[in-house]
Parts: sequence; C-alpha cells; structure tokens
Amino acid sequence: MSFSITTTTAPTPAARRAEILADPGFGRFFTDHMATAEWTVDEGWQELRVRPLEPFSMHPGVGVLHYGQEIFEGLKTYRHADDSLQLFRPDMNAARFARSARRLALPEFPPELFLEAMDELVRIEADWVPPHGDEASLYLRPIEFASEAFLGVRSSRTATFCTVASPAGAYFTGGVRGIRLWVTTKYTRAAVGGTGDAKCGGNYAGSLLAQTEAQEQGCDQVLYTSGPPERRILEEAGTMNIVLITRSGKLVTPGLGTILPGVTRDSLLTLAPEHGLVPVEREIPLPELVDGCRSGEIVEVFAAGTAAVITPIIALAGDGFEVTVGAGEPGPAGLALREHLLGIQHGDLPDPRGWMRRVC
Ligand SMILES: *Cc1c(COP(=O)(O)O)cnc(C)c1O
Repeated sequence: MSFSITTTTAPTPAARRAEILADPGFGRFFTDHMATAEWTVDEGWQELRVRPLEPFSMHPGVGVLHYGQEIFEGLKTYRHADDSLQLFRPDMNAARFARSARRLALPEFPPELFLEAMDELVRIEADWVPPHGDEASLYLRPIEFASEAFLGVRSSRTATFCTVASPAGAYFTGGVRGIRLWVTTKYTRAAVGGTGDAKCGGNYAGSLLAQTEAQEQGCDQVLYTSGPPERRILEEAGTMNIVLITRSGKLVTPGLGTILPGVTRDSLLTLAPEHGLVPVEREIPLPELVDGCRSGEIVEVFAAGTAAVITPIIALAGDGFEVTVGAGEPGPAGLALREHLLGIQHGDLPDPRGWMRRVC
C-alpha cells in the first residue's frame, strides 16, 4: 500500500510563494497539496493519496461535527545546509498519533503509513520548505476524524486521515522573549482517566476560555494544575509542557499521566545531562513552584513544544500571588537547551542519536 500522487495544475506562483516565505508567521498560509486516506470498518485504510489541497465536502451528520471525535499531530520539516529536507523524530509523532487514535476510539493510522505520508507530502512541497539559515520550517499538521454520518453515540465506522502543510517563520524575531503564565484555579484541562494525554482537538476547544481568562489577567498563557485546591499539582501550559531548573542543577518536569507526552519534553530530558543538569520527572506541587521562585531555589521556568521549542517563563500569577522567575528574563539553561535542540533540528549541530529523518 502506498500513496498515489496527483500534482496540482494550479500551483501557487513562485513569486507569491517567495512573498509568503519571506514572512510566513504561523498557520496563516497553506501549501498546494494535502495527503489523505479513508478508512472503513470493513476495508481498513485505503485511497492513500497526495493530491491538490481542496475543501472537504461532508454530510452535516458526520461524527466529528457532533461529538468532536478527532485527533491531530504537529511536526516540522527543516532544510539543512546541504539542501536536504529533514524531520525531527517523526517516529514519535507517528506512535503518538496511533495512541491518540486508540483513546478517541478512532482506527490507528499505521506508523509506517504516517511516515510515508509525511515523506510524500514534503517531497511534493519541497519548494515550500524555507531556506536554511533562519529558524523557519515547514509545519506538518496531520489530523484524523470521524466521517460517518450517524447521530448515535458510538465510534464511527468510517474515518478520514489528512495532512496539510503550512510554512512557519522563526518563532521569536528580535531575540527570545519571556512570557507570563496565569495559573488558573477555575479551569482544568485533564483528569485521571480522561483525554489529557491524547492530542485531540477537544482538549483545545476546552482551553480557549481559560486562555481568555489569562489574557484578561495580563498574562500570555495558562498554566494548568490538577488535584484539590489545597494540594494542587502542576500539569502543563495547555499547548506546551512545563520545565523547571533548580539552583542545584536539576531539570524537573511533571511525570506523564494526564499531560501530553511532548516530543520536545522527551528530547530535553535526554539532552539535560550534556548541560550538566540531572533530569527528574515527578509530581510538582504548586506551592513548591511559587515558594521556589521566591526563595531562589527555582532559577528558571520554561515551556516546551514543537512550535517555539522553548519559551522562557519570566513571571507567574494566580489567585492571590504573583512571582518573578529568576531575574525576570530568559535564563541561560533554557537558552542553551533551545540552541542545542534548534542546532540538531536545523542540522548545524551533531545528531548522535539519529533523531533526524532525511526525507530527500
Ligand atoms: C502538542 C502538545 C504539546 C507539545 O508536544 P510536542 O510534541 O513537544 O510538540 C504539549 N501539550 C499539549 C497539550 C500538546 O497538544
């Protein structure tokens, strides 16, 4: 089984593409093709295609529109100095996509087909991968959703896989900027046994109001906690995992369970020893974070995810408290880890673990 390729007859003119790539931002522009596949309970996965990007036509009764049965992924394509196009640990995304599917009662898209879809789409959109040298990339967004028109509550007997691609500019232009996090006590993102560790659209739908609350409080993003009010445990920032650096040289991050198992999080835990940091995964009570920032025991806090790699957290605010992290500016450990990961991804630093997958 492999993907059939149909090239568009109306590609974006080269001049327009150059204009877009000069300032792509994030998620604003789409390339000319998409990868798609259809699943039925009787036939399994079929109709594997890379074809011109076009709108879906769907029945108003399809499951995804009623019950939100949907999952997604996010990974980037980098152009190396030798002009090769490379993906960062796409096997992790492929495996997570299959796990998310299982949790949402969707059919698993086989990881080898996932990798083939990424490869074929990147090959046909090679001209859309920004030049080597800045921090830009081509972002790939695989999704899978329930496509059967049926109003009963049960898992869909048909599903659609799709991947679109969107050029992404350097996340920080003009220097890495720190952000302020709002620790919400009103909203949670996950509970034990829920979908917090699956990458599903519903988790994000439920986070938009909390994000509005954060902005009303003069913060940039939300930090979620779990557990009863008197014993709140750190979760994550909702689109990024959270990492603390202690004065004694530990890199501490919440253990897996209800958080999303980020590829960036895993990579930072792996690289930590090379930066003289001891990686630790454990429960972090909120008071430990707040008191630690005040006492200087916690020297840096940052968020980790594919989009920004590392986003320094320079202040935290919540019900009745506000603390500055360290000196209130991006810290050296976070910046060094960021440079290291970006260096591997863009091919400017050694990749001893073979994290990069060369597409072409
Ligand atoms: C995707 C995502 C992350 C970051 O994961 P990466 O694999 O590092 O990009 C963190 N939290 C949530 C909720 C996510 O959806």
